[in-house]
Amino acid sequence: MPKKFQSLSGMHDVFGYQFDYFERVREVVLKNAKIYGFHGFEMPIAENKEVFTRGVGKHTDIVEKEMYSFKTKGGDDISLRPEGTAPIMRAYIEHGLYTRPQPVKFFYFAPFFRYERPQAGRYRQFWQFGFESIGKGGPVVDAQIIVLVYNILKELGVCDVVVEINNMGDDVCRGEFKKVLKKYLKKNSSFLCEDCKKRKDKNPLRVLDCKKCVKIKEEAPQIVDYLCDSCEEDFKSVLEFLEELKIPYDLNPFLVRGLDYYMGTVYEFFARRKDEESPSFALGGGGRYDGLAELLGDEVRPATGVAMGVERVVELMRENKVILESEKPQVFIAQLGELAKKKALVLFEELKKSGISVSESFGQDSLKSQISRADKMGAFLTIIIGKEEAVEDRMILRDMDSGEQEKIKTSGAVKEIKERIKKSKKK
Ligand code: AMP
Repeated sequence: MPKKFQSLSGMHDVFGYQFDYFERVREVVLKNAKIYGFHGFEMPIAENKEVFTRGVGKHTDIVEKEMYSFKTKGGDDISLRPEGTAPIMRAYIEHGLYTRPQPVKFFYFAPFFRYERPQAGRYRQFWQFGFESIGKGGPVVDAQIIVLVYNILKELGVCDVVVEINNMGDDVCRGEFKKVLKKYLKKNSSFLCEDCKKRKDKNPLRVLDCKKCVKIKEEAPQIVDYLCDSCEEDFKSVLEFLEELKIPYDLNPFLVRGLDYYMGTVYEFFARRKDEESPSFALGGGGRYDGLAELLGDEVRPATGVAMGVERVVELMRENKVILESEKPQVFIAQLGELAKKKALVLFEELKKSGISVSESFGQDSLKSQISRADKMGAFLTIIIGKEEAVEDRMILRDMDSGEQEKIKTSGAVKEIKERIKKSKKK
C-alpha cells in the first residue's frame, strides 16, 4: 500500500464550518476597512530574511527560533513571512509611498508562518488580519485602530473583550528604563527561567511578559515611572480617547509585545471566556512602531498598526455559539415517515426555487431532534410533516420564537410561508 499523507505538523486545512467562519471574518474586516479608509494589501509569502532580522529584531523569539528560513538556488537568504508589518514597511519604502498623502493606510488578511511548538490554538501556519497606518500618526490614530478592531470583534459576536494597554517609551526613556531593568534582573536572576536567563541582557523587556517568570515581576521597575513628558502625554491622550469611545481597557505595566519595532503605546485584545475555568487568551495586538522604517534603511516614520489571529477569533465565535447569517435558514423542514419524506423533498425544492433559504435533516427520523436542530440553526419557521399531515395533504407551521403552531394546506403553502417571512422582517 502506498503511504498515506497527513498535513504537516502545525499546519491545518480550513474547510467546512471553519471555512464559513473565516469567510465571515474576512467579510466584516473588508467592510470595516472600507469605512475607516484602509486599502487592501497582498504581500509576498516570502521576503529577504533581513526584512525580519532587522525589522522584527535579532533577539526576538520569532527570529531566533521560529522563522522558516532557507537559501534559494540563487543563494539568497529568504524567510516565509512570520508577520505582516515589516513586509508592509518594506513596501512603503520600496515604492516611495511617503510621497503620497499621509498616512498611507493598509489592511491584510493572510496566512503567516512560525515554527512554533504545535499546541492548542498555536499553529505553524496561521491567519491574521491586520491594519497599518504609516506616515503620520498620533494618539488619535492608535485609538481609532483600537476602536476599529473592537467594532469588528463586536460585529463578529466576540463581545467580552478587554484591551490591555501599556506604553513602552521612546528610544530615549526606554533606554534609561532598560538600564534599570537590567540591573534589577541581574540582582534577581535566581527567579528567572532558563530562557529569560539568556535573554535578560539582550532583550530584558521580553522577560516582563514571560509567563513563567511571575515572581520576578512583583517588585520589578515599571516603564510608566520612566516615561518622558512626551510619551506620558501621548499615552494619556490614547487612554482619554478610549474612555471617550467607551472601550474597556486595563493598564498592564508588563505588556511589552514580543517584537523590537514597537515603541510608545502598545496593546493586546484579550477575550474573557464564558467558562471561568478557561484561561483568557490574546486575540491579537499592536502598537506604535515609528522606528521600523529606520531599521529598514529609511528614516523615522510615524506608524501604528495591529494584527489579529483569525483562528482564535473563529474559536471564540464558535464558543459564543455565533450563528452565521448564511447558515441561518428562514425555514426548516422536519418530517416523519416515508410519505412525509417524499412530500418534504418536493416542498424543499419548491421553497428553494421561490428564493426562501431552507434547511433540513432528512437523515434524522426523530421529530424532537429535528426540531432541536432547527432551533440551533436559528430557523424562523419549522414546517412539520408527520404521518397524519402527509396523508391529509397538510403541514404544521411552527413559529420558532413563540412556539405557536398552526396547520395549513399544502396547496398555497409556499405563498403563505413567503408572506409570513415578509411580515417577520417588518417587525
Ligand atoms: P503577534 O503577531 O505575535 O503579536 O500575534 C498576534 C496574534 O496572532 C496573536 O494574539 C494570536 O491571536 C495570533 N497568533 C500568533 N501566533 C500564532 C500561532 N502560532 N498560531 C495561531 N495564532 C497565532
